[in-house]
Amino acid sequence: MPDSHAHASASSCDASQDFAVKMMELLVVPTFVLDAHGRVIIWNRACVQLTGVPADEVLGMCGPGRCFYNDERPTLAELLLAGRGGDARARHLQQQYRSSTGNNLCAQNWCDMPRTGRRRYLAVDASPICDNGDELIAVVETLRDMTDEKRAQGELERLATRDGLTGLANRRCFDDTILAEWQRAQRQGQPLSLLMVDVDNFKQYNDSHGHQGGDLCLRKVAGAVASEMRANDMVARYGGEEFAVILPNQSLKGAAIVAERIRQRVERLQLPRKHLNGACVTVSIGAATALPGPGTQLGQLIHTADCALYRAKHLGRNRISLPESTLI
Ligand code: GH3
Ligand code: MG
Ligand code: MG
Repeated sequence: MPDSHAHASASSCDASQDFAVKMMELLVVPTFVLDAHGRVIIWNRACVQLTGVPADEVLGMCGPGRCFYNDERPTLAELLLAGRGGDARARHLQQQYRSSTGNNLCAQNWCDMPRTGRRRYLAVDASPICDNGDELIAVVETLRDMTDEKRAQGELERLATRDGLTGLANRRCFDDTILAEWQRAQRQGQPLSLLMVDVDNFKQYNDSHGHQGGDLCLRKVAGAVASEMRANDMVARYGGEEFAVILPNQSLKGAAIVAERIRQRVERLQLPRKHLNGACVTVSIGAATALPGPGTQLGQLIHTADCALYRAKHLGRNRISLPESTLI
């Protein structure tokens, strides 16, 4: 990069400062420095590359936050300065960013990058620079671009919790969620309902439509079940052609209504079955409700919903079934 992009207010630099400025300029880590008044005195070339903002636009200016965010927001370096300047609110905010190892502040967050239009996830660190008399003379802020790591982490979390075929929550996610909901229902003294939804005669469907046809059918049924969910409900692929629906704070009566809506919704898909004279894909659903407490167990809720499902199968399929004796 040409020297016109060398990014320091050179006038105040003595030899050792000059060396430090050159070193920062060469760092591959995006770095900027504010003087004690909050003016930008260094804006290195990695910072130019990250933000798309040339050094001569920010050098000598206050408020570099506009290079990172669409809205008015202080950088961590400014927060550190403001706290030192006796700003009580900044001091309070600093508590949440204080590092465990020193006087520096650190944070990780998404930045808009208004100039480049490329949102980046940055790990930010702001450290005070003091003179020999411990007087604050500047603050240095370094920014590490963690976007790839953050996205990879998100993808890993998605893979760990989602079912690959249907995109619904997977069995592991179901196990974690139902346990958390059970504990929450117990704390709040609320009922918890569970539906087990199973595609009818699906082995036959696979045999006549092929495995790929079966997969497509499962995706469509999954979409239909999911479309009946409200914000706090959760549907998961429990296994094979079976789905589980968690209905927090729902009575058995309410659960039966949701179950019937799901049954009808799948029927309305009108997914034809070959060799069965126009018959369509249907589901059977077992429902159960519990009031979690000392006398009840989560395993019992799942077992009761399972038994209700098998009764629905036994009674002829394409129907919902409720427990013979309710848990509450
Ligand atoms: P029922 O009405 O009693 O539930 O009968 P069913 O045939 O649906 O039940 P069964 O348990 O006998 O067969 C389930 C079938 O689901 C067998 C299995 O090959 C199929 N299956 C399970 N997972 C998948 C999958 O991911 N894709 C496809 N295409 N088929 C699957
Ligand atoms: Mg089945
Ligand atoms: Mg089954």
